[in-house]
Amino acid sequence: MNKYFKIVIALIIVVIIAGLYLLFTRKDKVDTGSPVSPISVVQESSTPTATNDSNSVAEIKEPTAESSASSMQNYKITPPIADALSRIAKKPFGIKISPQNSPISPERFSGYHTGVDFETLATEKDTAVPVYAICTGSLTLKKWVSGYGGVVVQKCQLENQTVTVIYGHLKLESVKASVDDLEISAGDQLGILGQGYTAETDGERKHLHLGIHQGTAINIRGYVQTQPELDDWLDPQKYL
Ligand SMILES: [Zn+2]
Repeated sequence: MNKYFKIVIALIIVVIIAGLYLLFTRKDKVDTGSPVSPISVVQESSTPTATNDSNSVAEIKEPTAESSASSMQNYKITPPIADALSRIAKKPFGIKISPQNSPISPERFSGYHTGVDFETLATEKDTAVPVYAICTGSLTLKKWVSGYGGVVVQKCQLENQTVTVIYGHLKLESVKASVDDLEISAGDQLGILGQGYTAETDGERKHLHLGIHQGTAINIRGYVQTQPELDDWLDPQKYL
């Protein structure tokens, strides 16, 4: 009886040791692999392992999602205006607007917005707001156009493709560069924004419309009527 009892106890001990061995060797693989005492393995890995796992999944997933969504974002343009991102408040790229639902009132345009609008502050109403070239390239158009007032178009290379950049609502007289002038460098001041609700902006509020059209053709449309047409345009915000 006593003999059998000892054998049973011995078996139980063997099973426990084997179980602990399996448990700790598995933990070691999940953990950093550094040799640690069983107690510290339990403390370090059993509780944090659950969070570690979710963290490591998040660490792997997040950059992947970001990099796939932003493979285009590796290239950065020079901001066309100070505090550019904070100014995108009313009309981002691709927004479909009509006079009925527009964030601007009154609204005379409708369709899908081909660019991004950078708003100005009330305190900037009567001050010069500089506009900068977002890339390096020469001007291909500089004129007063209905719906824009002053508009300037610059030809650039963006991620190995030729694009034309539309800067709308500029005070035309402030633009010193001429069409086919020597190259304008990214960051050079192109001019200043036109005064709101005057001929300088063709009656629009004081803001910058920035569009990036793919290819060399000059296309200054601020809106397109069908969504597929938007494919010819790039979202400037992605490059900021
Ligand atoms: Zn616009």
